[in-house]
Amino acid sequence: MEYWNPYLETMGRRQLGEIELRYFRNILSFAKETSHLYRDKLRAIDPDRIKTRDDLKTIPLTEKNDLRQYQEQPPFPYGGLLGRDMTEVTTYRQTSGTTGKPVYVPETYESWQWRVEAWCHILYMAGFRPHHRVFLPFGYNVYVAFWEAHYAAEKLGCEVIPGGALDTKGRIHKIIETRANVLANTPTYGLHIAEEALAMGIDPKALGIERMICAGEPMSEPTRKRLEELFGCRTFDHIGGTEPCGWAGMCETQEGLHIIEPLFLVEILDRETLTREVEEGEMGVAVVTPLGRRSMPMIRFNTKDLVVKGASGCACGRTSQKIREVVGRTDDLRKIRGVLFSPKSVEEVIRSHFREIAEYEILVERKGTMDEIPLRIELLPNMSAEQIACVKMKLSEKLKVKTNLNFRVQVEPAGTLPRYTLKASRFKDLRE
Ligand SMILES: [Zn+2]
Repeated sequence: MEYWNPYLETMGRRQLGEIELRYFRNILSFAKETSHLYRDKLRAIDPDRIKTRDDLKTIPLTEKNDLRQYQEQPPFPYGGLLGRDMTEVTTYRQTSGTTGKPVYVPETYESWQWRVEAWCHILYMAGFRPHHRVFLPFGYNVYVAFWEAHYAAEKLGCEVIPGGALDTKGRIHKIIETRANVLANTPTYGLHIAEEALAMGIDPKALGIERMICAGEPMSEPTRKRLEELFGCRTFDHIGGTEPCGWAGMCETQEGLHIIEPLFLVEILDRETLTREVEEGEMGVAVVTPLGRRSMPMIRFNTKDLVVKGASGCACGRTSQKIREVVGRTDDLRKIRGVLFSPKSVEEVIRSHFREIAEYEILVERKGTMDEIPLRIELLPNMSAEQIACVKMKLSEKLKVKTNLNFRVQVEPAGTLPRYTLKASRFKDLRE
């Protein structure tokens, strides 16, 4: 086994914990001195009194709305989020703004290098090495994810091919032309490349892709396996975001994700109270503090990512705390007829058992006082009425077992449902 940073990645748990608390006190003092957000928010907090993980609970969480509010201050556009002088900022990034006004994110040269280093951990863990030629099938624009992958792959010594300003066919031709052997994409776009290649009469396996790192969306295990099968490659996941950076990645064992310690202090908190740290095997919300990023310090950022806490330690020899599973976003979790529902469970059932389903969409509607869940599906062509009836019945049964809810399965004509190429959004709650 090899590590990107053998010293940090195999350090004992106690020492890791001590280092993280020391770094935490440092970044907390720094944030209070430099960022207007934290000067106001943490006025009453004394960094020297944070001695144990338990003491962290005395510090309020940072919510996305805090960021939106404080960026309205001068200087434009980062306002009270800045931890460094405006003249030191070297790159502008922003969030996608899917849940409201975008957050503008400043990077200095130093903070960008710190981010890239965190991503080096993620890519090295996923087996990226200097002989790899990495194809990035996106125009990265102002969003951060693929820029991080680009710079980190370079730092690792890989050769990077930026694949923007091409359509999917053009990208497939480029992969063949350059003999790229690694892909970094969203799971949705990975599936789309495979579909498009098949339509061009090219077996995706013939593209010669050895490894794939996925970003941008929660990926279910059946989807990850499907990508491996389609491309004949190994597919790795990670979790991160524009504000907290990429903070956990998947190793060769492909069992859960390793938190990048001690670059991040991550707490997985009970979903209801957001105070208690959950136990191994329990689901909670990830609260992340990047410990070395100073352009925009973040203290206890509520990522709203729901994860299941895993073990600490792994067959790969890394000692960091693991996450067993990324469940999704707290925003996607819904109560339907009193039952807690995550759209990822439908994705898991469909990708594991129903290859004949080409596309799907989940709706939640209120009929009188009752919630109804129509599940619209599109099937592959040329299926008999008998086969279709069989799929409908089996799908309802499996979903009932998995979610404890009754879905109304509707078969739609081919081409009715939206197709996604970058990020998918197959869940619509129409009750609101
Ligand atoms: Zn591992």
